[in-house]
Amino acid sequence: MIIKEVSARKIKDSRGDETIEVSVNGSRASSPSGKSRGKYETPSYRENIDWNIAFLNSWNEADGKKLGEINSFYDLEKVEEDIKKSLKINDVKKFGANAIFAFESAILKALVKEQRKELWQIINPKARKLPFPAGNAVGGGLHSSNKGKPSFQEFLVIPRTASFSKNYDIMKDFYKKIGRKFKSKKTNDEGAWEVSADEESILKEFDSLRNELEKKLGENIGIGVDAATSTFFKSNSYYYKDKSLDKSKQIKFASGLIKKYKILYFEDPLNEDDFTGFYNLKKEAGGCLIVGDDLTATSLDRLKRALEIDSVNAVIVKPNQNGSLLEMKKIFEFCKLKGIKTIMSHRSGETMDDALADYTFGFQADFIKCGIAGKEREVKLKRLGEIEESLR
Ligand code: PEP
Ligand code: MG
Repeated sequence: MIIKEVSARKIKDSRGDETIEVSVNGSRASSPSGKSRGKYETPSYRENIDWNIAFLNSWNEADGKKLGEINSFYDLEKVEEDIKKSLKINDVKKFGANAIFAFESAILKALVKEQRKELWQIINPKARKLPFPAGNAVGGGLHSSNKGKPSFQEFLVIPRTASFSKNYDIMKDFYKKIGRKFKSKKTNDEGAWEVSADEESILKEFDSLRNELEKKLGENIGIGVDAATSTFFKSNSYYYKDKSLDKSKQIKFASGLIKKYKILYFEDPLNEDDFTGFYNLKKEAGGCLIVGDDLTATSLDRLKRALEIDSVNAVIVKPNQNGSLLEMKKIFEFCKLKGIKTIMSHRSGETMDDALADYTFGFQADFIKCGIAGKEREVKLKRLGEIEESLR
């Protein structure tokens, strides 16, 4: 395939913020955007969104011919080299993560059309294992504007039956019931319920509803949190509504919650610079997944650093936290080698692009973290249901 046509424009994400959509030979892809952005994330754009849009819109057929045939996932290397050369940069991420991700994603979608394949097949035609969904049911922290909100950002339900579609149904049921328990009428950017309650009261309800459903269905249902602690960490303390905790008290608080409420998944329990804090908590956390998001920022270098001292046993991968799909593949390969669980994740500001589902499946991520309600989330979860169905 020759990249004949490239164009880019601004679209609005689910939050109403601007993001980039790129079209390659008529196939379109877009980038989401985060609100609780880690300080180690790749910047979204080179200078600003307009700069990247102008750059991509200057593409012409001669550029495509010069680049040559793009026929496989690995041919993205040619595209990355070309960008680096033309901008005189040593790392393609300097182009901006949102821009490079949407561009590469649109190229792969154009290949899908030309080769009459599914997007996930371009990445790994042998993929077979569906991820477990980790659904965001209740939101707090930066993702809520409720007065009495919890400091933790997300409370997740993680059904673990053998079927993705069944897990999706359980998630929707859990979501409806937990909303009723809190009498919540308001949802956040990700479709999660906004409530006025602290961490412990929410986890108590999650645990009791999980027990009730596990008994009824005879299936295993995990619960999890994204504490996103960097958003309430200041001068060596974690500031909650009713208390402030130093590092060792924060570790004690987190490990206490893990044991008391049988938490399966705990994301960013310590702030984004605290590799040793993660390690200390992980030692005390039994089999709980101690997940890096802001800590590792979908960067292979930061992930390697985390594993040098055994800080995490699971890691979030957000395509637009890095940008390069080639590096993303390396991250998945590295995690597999090291026995680290992978969680492909949406962002709080999402678009109608469902490619995240194909990347999750193609890279064989263990989990997908996503909102449960709202059309931008539903397209991704439904797409995974379709993929499951197509394998039968
Ligand atoms: C997260 O922190 O895991 C998340 C999805 O939030 P955001 O997209 O706002 O960074
Ligand atoms: Mg997070």
